Amino acid sequence: MNRTPLDRIRDHLVCLKMSCALEALDTSIRRLEQGELSALELLDTLLGEECLMRESRRIKSSMMTARLTRIKTLQSFDFSFQPSLDKERVMALAQLDFIDRGEVVHLLGPPGTGKSHLAIALAVEAVKAGRSAYFATLAEIIESLTRAEREGRLAHRISYIARPALLIIDEVGYLPIQKGGANLFFQLINARYERGAIILTSNRGFSEWGEVFGDNVVAAALLDRLLHHAIVIEIAGNSYRLRQHARLVPESLRLPPISAPDPLKKRRGRPPKLQQED
Ligand code: ADP
Ligand code: MG
Repeated sequence: MNRTPLDRIRDHLVCLKMSCALEALDTSIRRLEQGELSALELLDTLLGEECLMRESRRIKSSMMTARLTRIKTLQSFDFSFQPSLDKERVMALAQLDFIDRGEVVHLLGPPGTGKSHLAIALAVEAVKAGRSAYFATLAEIIESLTRAEREGRLAHRISYIARPALLIIDEVGYLPIQKGGANLFFQLINARYERGAIILTSNRGFSEWGEVFGDNVVAAALLDRLLHHAIVIEIAGNSYRLRQHARLVPESLRLPPISAPDPLKKRRGRPPKLQQED
């Protein structure tokens, strides 16, 4: 049977698993025959469609692996709502140099100020740029480490969570941590120390970490590692969730801005692009 060049192109596209190009082939050929496309433009269109589809499939699958199920972007963040937040600093972080430098970004602020939104948005940027990420709340991480320890696979679990280029630990300080949990978390942070970037979000100041982790010694050891190559960003504004109903929240439940202890002050305000501190 005589196969035409077009038949062979179809076979090649099947063989190369280029389903998107295959799908676009007939329409593109028709446009070529009608003089709307040149041969070069046809090739460009087919390869372009295929690349676009593969890229979007890659991002989707990396998002799933990173557990990024809620998608937030920097474009959808209204910086004008949080005047205390330096937009330039956040946009500099989106260049992702902090990942290469293995730095720890602390996003601090009261509930609803956009900490998780920004953490997710930075993770989305990282995934789009081909970096691996892993997103979880502190409670989820501790629960998963506790289960792994019980099942005798703690080392494996720690190395799995510590592996991605960017680890996002959301909601430090919302729930109290039992001593065993704090120890497990310390093992993870120790495994991760100087090996990869972390974003932590918290509604509590560092001076409260002893209380958060139920143990001053473990909290001090955690802070020692998590403030070594750190970028601290504080959001001192109002809750975006409550923006239409803020006046309904009683005064007694309004949270004061977070205050970090004095020794950390010199670390704040450091632009992310500077050299690492020792
Ligand atoms: P936090 O983690 O600080 O408690 P979130 O990041 O979860 O707050 O924000 C609460 C909700 O409000 C989310 O749906 C988030 O997308 C939205 N949000 C918060 N701040 C902003 C903002 N400045 N612009 C747009 N959406 C925001
Ligand atoms: Mg949050």
